[in-house]
This record gives sequence, structure tokens and C-alpha cells, in this order.
Amino acid sequence: MSIVRTVLGDIEDADLGVTLSHEHLICDSRMWQAPPPDDDLGRQLAATKEPTLDTLWWHRQFPNSNASVLVLEDEQTAIQELAEFARLGGRSLVELTCAMGRDLGALRRISLATGINIIAGTGHYIAASHDPQVATSTVGQLADAMVSDILEGDPDGTKCGVIGELGLSWPIHHDELKVLRAGARAQAATGAAISIHTAAHAVDEDSALVAADVLEAEGADLSRVVMGHLDTSLHRPEYHRAVLSRGCLVQYDLFGHEFFESENSFQSFGDTETVRAAAKLVSDGWASRILLSHDICYKIQLQKYGGYGYGHILRNIVPRLRLCGVSEEVSYSILRDNPRQVFTVTDGA
Ligand SMILES: [Zn+2]
Repeated sequence: MSIVRTVLGDIEDADLGVTLSHEHLICDSRMWQAPPPDDDLGRQLAATKEPTLDTLWWHRQFPNSNASVLVLEDEQTAIQELAEFARLGGRSLVELTCAMGRDLGALRRISLATGINIIAGTGHYIAASHDPQVATSTVGQLADAMVSDILEGDPDGTKCGVIGELGLSWPIHHDELKVLRAGARAQAATGAAISIHTAAHAVDEDSALVAADVLEAEGADLSRVVMGHLDTSLHRPEYHRAVLSRGCLVQYDLFGHEFFESENSFQSFGDTETVRAAAKLVSDGWASRILLSHDICYKIQLQKYGGYGYGHILRNIVPRLRLCGVSEEVSYSILRDNPRQVFTVTDGA
């Protein structure tokens, strides 16, 4: 038996069930905030208190311009939004907010209210979000803090169960390299999986392979390393095969991000292309090494604000995978068995 460490305590891996491998429930992503377009509408909508359905069309083009869009702050909203995922058979969720406003108390209450198992992340996201302490800490100190989050937890005893999401910019910042090395050491001490935010906007760069080199040199078990946001580089399938060949998991975690980051001139591929790419990996024999998720971190991804919500993969993507030749059985195996393989911690940790 292997154990999974949730915010409500340890569970058996068999109880994990259908799991979203990269999500956020309470999160502050304002490190991504960017100036709005220089026109009256841009200035007006960037300043509104909350996104609304009648201006959703604009927020989908400029998701980083309005501060409120970048923050998930409301526990009741999170509870309501998770109900759909639970109704569709979802059981567990990996919450990777780590140092972007993680609130373990809130995650506990959300888990209690919904019955959804929540695995919380520890570590540090991209350098733009780092606490000043990261720059002055040694690799050992950063690793100790992660280990403590997993073994001791907060003053209430709420523990983390995964390392990540560890953030990479491009070029990779030297403090991000330090965090990566610390993550490898924390994994050695706890057996926890490592989840990486690859440099997703640098779509032609091999940031996942660079991260694999750094982690491996520090002794990480690459078979328990998840390379996230690779659905921004679907035009380079050879890159994803190289990541798989190194032993890491390939994660397509932007399902439902059907919007254009105009501020970054960045356009994600969208669900149609991602479904096709996932189906190709399955037909090439990689079904046991891929993970699927939504990375919900913008308000406009929540159903309340016009997004697809946490049930999108179960309700909409599984049928679309079937149209591309992936049986429901295989899709559910990807959503249930693959997280069960990777999101465990060492028994006795
Ligand atoms: Zn994320």
C-alpha cells in the first residue's frame, strides 16, 4: 500500500480516484498582471472590481489586465465550483498554489465541505513571485522548508503532499535553479512527487529538459517528476517525446484556457489541438505517462464567471478524446491510475 498525503491526513492511494493533477482553489497570480491596452475600454475594464459575463469577451483577450481576474479568493465559490467535479465522479485534486497565496486552512475547509481530497503543494513559483527570503536562502534551507511542510505541516498539523508547482521563467532565473535543486533534495527525503511549471510562454525552448538535467544532477527520481503546461508547445511533439524518454510525466493542464493573452502576445493551442495531441501520445503507447488538468487560476475559468470549471475534462474532454480514438476506459485510467502512481509519499514519511 502507498499513501497519499492530503490536507485532511493520509489516505490509501486506492482512495485517490479520479484526480485533477494541476489546479488552484485559493490563489493569487498577480505577478502576471500587465498593463491593459491603451484605450478607454481597456482602462475602464482593467479597473472594474470583478469580471462580469457581459465583458467576458474582453477579459478573454486581456486576462492579465484586471487584478481581480488573477485572484481566486473565495472559499464558498471554490466549494460551489467543485460540486460539479464531484457530481461527475471526481474525487481528488492537486492544489499547487504553494507560495502564491496558499491557504492550508481554507483548503482544509473546502475539502471538508466537498468531500474532495486535496493534496497541497510546497515550494516556490516563478522568480517574479518569490518572497525576498528565497534569494538569501541556501538550497539546503529551501529544501528543509519543503520537507517541513510535508512532514510537520502548519501549526494545525495540515501537511503538504507534493513539491510544486516549482516555477521556471525563461531564461531560468538563478533562484529558480536553486528552488529546483531544493525540490530534488526534498523529494529524496519524503518521496513526494515534483510538479514543474515549465517556462510555458517560451514555446520554442526546452525548459522541461533543462529542468530534468538540474533535477537529475541533484538526485531526483525523474519518474516522479511532472512537467506541466506542455500544451503550449504542441507544435513540437518531439520535445514531449524527449521529456517522456527522460522518464518524466508529460502534463497537458490547460484544458479550458480558450483565451488569448494579448498582453504577452501569447495564444494557447486550445482544447481541439490538445485533445488531438493527447490522443496521439496514447496511440504511441504513452497512456500511462500523461496527466490532464485545467490549471484553474483565472476567475474567468470558473463557471460562475463564464468559464468551463473543474468538471470540464470529465464532462467535455473525455467525450472528445473518444472521438479521437481514446476509449473512455483509457481516459479514466489516465485520470485515475496515473495520479495514483505519482502523487504518493514514502510510507512512514
Ligand atoms: Zn498552476
